[in-house]
Amino acid sequence: MKTIRLHPGKERSLLRRHPWIFASAVAKGSADSGETVRVQADDGRFLAWAAYSPTSQIRLRVWSFDEAQRIDAGFFATRLSQAIARRTSLGLDLTACRLVHGESDGLPGCIIDRYADIAVLQAGSAGIERHKPALLQALRSLLPQVRIYERSDAAVRGREGLAASSGWLHGAGPTQVEIREHGLRLLVDVASGHKTGFYLDQRDARGLFASVVRDHGVQRVLNCFCYTGGFTLAALAGGAQHVVSVDSSAAALELAARHVTLNGFDPARTTFVDADANATLRRLREGGEQFDAIVLDPPKFASSAQQVERAARAYKDINRLAWHLLPPGGWLFTFSCSGGISAELFQKIVAAAAVDAAADAQIVARTGAGADHPLTLHFPEGDYLKGLLLRKR
Ligand code: SAH
Repeated sequence: MKTIRLHPGKERSLLRRHPWIFASAVAKGSADSGETVRVQADDGRFLAWAAYSPTSQIRLRVWSFDEAQRIDAGFFATRLSQAIARRTSLGLDLTACRLVHGESDGLPGCIIDRYADIAVLQAGSAGIERHKPALLQALRSLLPQVRIYERSDAAVRGREGLAASSGWLHGAGPTQVEIREHGLRLLVDVASGHKTGFYLDQRDARGLFASVVRDHGVQRVLNCFCYTGGFTLAALAGGAQHVVSVDSSAAALELAARHVTLNGFDPARTTFVDADANATLRRLREGGEQFDAIVLDPPKFASSAQQVERAARAYKDINRLAWHLLPPGGWLFTFSCSGGISAELFQKIVAAAAVDAAADAQIVARTGAGADHPLTLHFPEGDYLKGLLLRKR
């Protein structure tokens, strides 16, 4: 077993149980991609078992802080069954659910999402890549009926020195399946959809939006960055009269439109706009349009710390435009899924946008990803998705 020694003082974050060690903290030692190493402090004290990643700035990702723990097939089977058991005990519907949420489930870099009879694996770290066979075996024995598809094509793979890899790992057949969310029917294509196919993390927010629409008799809705229409369907289910949905992906819009009829809603209640959301917001403003509720759920504007400033301007821009499109009493449900933008900063950005638009608002709710995307005390980075449900005064 290879040993990695850290610079003096660099053990501090591990002692706080944070699972990452950056390249600059490593004093001595190296290993192969994904290999399990013993991490020790400058004085030789055992700190953790971790996976080594030779090219990533995150050089080590911790498997365990327990010196007696062996990182073998049994370890992965246990972590996986614990992750599934946690979700079962919370009463989550496991047929449309994130089963493993990386660091927060003790499997750094591993995402497993389940859609109907397909589990989608995303290996985002060298350690997970190396132990894929063990994970696969564990998944097959825990969920024998499930087909397994790989979507390891996220940008992080490059930083880990790994090539993209997609396709069936177990089973075969159609890659499109139907899931249910709050009673609504949704089609998910695990091969061509974004991320692993669908944005499961917004399930609770979509449910909340449907109740706001219902409880407050919201009529005209604008859904920007609609993807396959999750918030559009929520608004229709809540009884909205008309929903304008904007996205720059034609394929996503096509599926969104199909979802409207699949759920028995009248297509005349919807308009789909294939365009840039920012440009559309400007155009709607110039046209003097108003909406009773607006959803802004943009993609990650900042994927690194260096991009935070530019991202902040982009968030401010769309939020300012949205404020202009809302009458007093109107609802803004606005999100950021950028890890680098804290909840506090996001609220400041949205507030600054409101100042520019001469608007004030009440914070009716703060939202985040659902319980299948657990958040742990030791890994605050897991808190990437923040939402503000606001009501204009
Ligand atoms: N709200 C969605 C998820 C949104 S993901 C849901 O509940 O499922 C972000 C979406 O923004 C993606 O569908 C992507 O195609 C779209 N997008 C990215 N850049 C865009 C742009 N400049 N204008 C409009 N849509 C954009």
